[in-house]
Amino acid sequence: MNIGSIREDFPVMRDLIYLDSAATSLSPESVIRAMNDFERRYRANVGRGVHRLSSFASHRYTEAHKKISAFIGGDSGTVAITKNTTEAINLVARGLHWEKGDRVVTTLLEHHSNLLPWLDLREQGVEVGIIRPDADGMIRASDFEEAIDGNTRLVAVTHVSNVLGSVLPVKEIARLCHECGARLLVDGAQSVPHMQVDAGAIGCDYLCFSGHKMLGPTGTGVLWMKKTDADPLIVGGGGIVSVTTEGYVMADDFRKYEAGTPNIGGTIGLAEAADYLTKIGMDNVRTYCAGLTDRLVRGLARIPGVSIFGPSNPEMRSAIVSFTVDGMHPHDVAHILDEAAGIMVRSGDHCCQPLMAHMNLNGTVRASPYIYNDTSDIDLLIDTVEEIARMG
Ligand code: PMP
Repeated sequence: MNIGSIREDFPVMRDLIYLDSAATSLSPESVIRAMNDFERRYRANVGRGVHRLSSFASHRYTEAHKKISAFIGGDSGTVAITKNTTEAINLVARGLHWEKGDRVVTTLLEHHSNLLPWLDLREQGVEVGIIRPDADGMIRASDFEEAIDGNTRLVAVTHVSNVLGSVLPVKEIARLCHECGARLLVDGAQSVPHMQVDAGAIGCDYLCFSGHKMLGPTGTGVLWMKKTDADPLIVGGGGIVSVTTEGYVMADDFRKYEAGTPNIGGTIGLAEAADYLTKIGMDNVRTYCAGLTDRLVRGLARIPGVSIFGPSNPEMRSAIVSFTVDGMHPHDVAHILDEAAGIMVRSGDHCCQPLMAHMNLNGTVRASPYIYNDTSDIDLLIDTVEEIARMG
């Protein structure tokens, strides 16, 4: 990986050190250019007009779906573009038909976006089982084996924890689910940007992720479905075969889930982001970020008063490092890192309040490196945290 030239594609990195990519990543120039091209050269609505601009925009929009699908090995299913991961998960939770006594299994590692939609189902008599992580922040396939019973219709699990970086064994979980006739939804918000994720090879039924965390624009996310049998969240213009005053017949492809004018430029930008990552190679992304993460964990571990959370085995951790400094609130640490060294990190509960309560924490500082970071960013973070810990 030629990190020097990659860094040049992200102009913000000239002025500051961005280590908050798990919240949202930066976009390279090529993604911004692809979106601007749509706005400047061929902006038109898709799937509706016969004029050449509309045909061209429709072609680019459909091609974008194909590229995004190929990026996640999704050819055996359907890619629908959503606003974000949250909308994708809500679509599944609200689009399936639930019966009293159905069970959903999820975990305490989940982002609120993969918890609240399932908790809401309790109003319909659905039981929600929640698996707890071990002290290392891991959940094993055997924990799911115990939690899944004959009433379990769906298991909703994160592939990578956005707080601890733990990588969960989703392929084994998929096998367990299918043995019991349950479906599997994988929240790939933190995995798809960082590793080769192949929906077909995992064997999941739904894969949800956010375009804005994988170099794409904000306002883009993806719901990949093996089958298009969930009802859409909204209906209206587009996505239909025929309409009478008596009723309507829907298209049986992505358009069913994209009523109304979609985020055309954003989707084209997201496809460009998938291209950009593919050119680097997802295995290279994973290896490169693992090197930075390992360096960060080792460096922070040497500082007295700093506690690091998450898997001790580096192979079980993605590029997320949560830590605390004794005697200091995480927000204060994050604030000083910005003021003193121009380092942007996240602090707080990371939309995982039940996990924070379980770990008895009032929050953590979270650093999340990506392809545009280098070892000098990591070393400056370690040195600055060391100074802060000395002050604290
Ligand atoms: N799941 C996980 C694991 C996440 O990290 C996030 C974002 N922090 C989400 C879901 C929600 O993503 P979005 O805000 O793009 O809907």
